[in-house]
Amino acid sequence: MSKGRVDTYIGIGSNLGDAADNVQRAILLLGTLDDTRLIAQSNLFRTAPVDGGGDDYVNAVAKLETGMPADLLLNALQAIEQDFGRERPFPNAPRTLDLDVLLYAQQRIDTPSLTVPHPRLTQRAFALIPLLQLDPLLAIPGKGPAHQFVPGVAGQAIQKI
Ligand code: ADP
Ligand code: MG
Repeated sequence: MSKGRVDTYIGIGSNLGDAADNVQRAILLLGTLDDTRLIAQSNLFRTAPVDGGGDDYVNAVAKLETGMPADLLLNALQAIEQDFGRERPFPNAPRTLDLDVLLYAQQRIDTPSLTVPHPRLTQRAFALIPLLQLDPLLAIPGKGPAHQFVPGVAGQAIQKI
């Protein structure tokens, strides 16, 4: 890792428009953020919506190395969501693009706008499985090895594209 930078994992999802294209273009944009480099991306996965309705999702996880503080990174992610025409008519509504900070270094962050590790990371196959593809031995701060949560999400449909 470069000096002053940390590793961060971003969860990406889309189920409106050309979802796979949205996800792939978003991943490339993540690598163009200030003081940031795209280190790796998972496969794209097709998943069924968990709480909301609408079409199946396309999900992936990107590993970035960044010098951006977490709050500025979240702002940058929300700006990309806006560029993709993201609207929030109701919770869990279908979305052109969702970008979530899953992990930021090994930090625990709890502010009104940002909770890291992402609170639903361990309960959602669409985040956990692509994350483990990038690093099967990854630890979640405060929770231990990420792979221990796989049996808990085994009932959620997820398929590599
Ligand atoms: P969803 O929870 O379905 O991803 P949104 O994308 O609309 O919903 O995000 C709602 C709010 O969640 C954002 O305004 C943001 O401030 C907050 N939030 C809290 N923690 C995180 C995180 N780790 N990553 C992204 N957003 C987060
Ligand atoms: Mg989100």
